[in-house]
Amino acid sequence: MSSSALLAFALFATTLQPYEAVEPHMGTLFRIKLYAASEQQAQQAFRAAFARIAQLDDELSDYKPDSELNRLARSAVKRPQPASEDLVRVVGAAEQLSEKTDGAFDITIGPLTHLWRAAVKVHQLPSAEAIAAARAKCGFRKLHVNLQAHTICFDESGMQLDAGAIAKGDAADQALFVLKQLGIQSALVAASGDLAFSDAPPGEAGWKIGVDSLDRADAPFTRVLLLANGAVSTSGPSEQHLDINGVRYSHIIDPRTGMGLTRDLTVTVIAAHGLAADPLATALSVLGPERGLALIDSIPGAAALVVQDENGRHTLSKSKRFPTVEQ
Ligand code: AMP
Ligand code: MG
Repeated sequence: MSSSALLAFALFATTLQPYEAVEPHMGTLFRIKLYAASEQQAQQAFRAAFARIAQLDDELSDYKPDSELNRLARSAVKRPQPASEDLVRVVGAAEQLSEKTDGAFDITIGPLTHLWRAAVKVHQLPSAEAIAAARAKCGFRKLHVNLQAHTICFDESGMQLDAGAIAKGDAADQALFVLKQLGIQSALVAASGDLAFSDAPPGEAGWKIGVDSLDRADAPFTRVLLLANGAVSTSGPSEQHLDINGVRYSHIIDPRTGMGLTRDLTVTVIAAHGLAADPLATALSVLGPERGLALIDSIPGAAALVVQDENGRHTLSKSKRFPTVEQ
């Protein structure tokens, strides 16, 4: 860079100010931090980014009866139906991860997640019969996404998609994309455990990302990561679960058994995009540290940390590329 260009860059950088806004979407709070040249630019950017997140929620929610996701599960039985670009991107990525994880991650898990959601409400385990019936309606091999034709098809009626483990990460990516189109180069979007971020804040080396699972006195590992242009997702049983007879069942379900996970794992995944980091964190919770970290090591640019809590004893496992620099 020439010295005049450097000066112009420095002046521009110093005029950028931080702004922050929060809105409820997808059953959680989305927080956006960004650097803008004016209040007006910041507010316009917030409006556009939150509108994009709301649009994705309308398309991908399994809580909204008329979301595109729910409409397709009814109309695309045994006949491929056209789907939006957003649905094809998200459901297509989910299908690919199902292949890679041999079904540990499965977006067709809806019948089971709905059963477990009802169980949490009445504080009772679902019956073995109900679990078997719901399991019979699940299975990614009965879902067909055609990326070229932009269609989706289900083999059976009564199937139900649940994008709860992938939609927030994707929405964070898409919000960043909208912000970039409006000239915002440096932003961070956080939806509870799912974060995606663009360029570092002006004059800084990266966004400071606190890794919750490490915030423990006995965890001598990195607590704050300094990252830019990527995504970090954390999955764990801490937020939602069902406690019955001293056993804690996670909101993450093992598709092979139909049961909520009982192993206490907190998984943090770093990847290039939220569309990858979010479902990978969920997938690793099901796969466990050994198989999960081997998968992460096979994905370029991905890294993960798994903290297992066994009666208060924490075991930490890291993928080969997990950053080790302590801040
Ligand atoms: P996350 O908090 O990102 O780990 O996502 C958890 C949510 O994903 C749950 O609340 C369910 O809606 C859904 N889910 C649960 N188990 C699975 C699974 N094995 N594969 C895909 N999605 C799942
Ligand atoms: Mg997830």
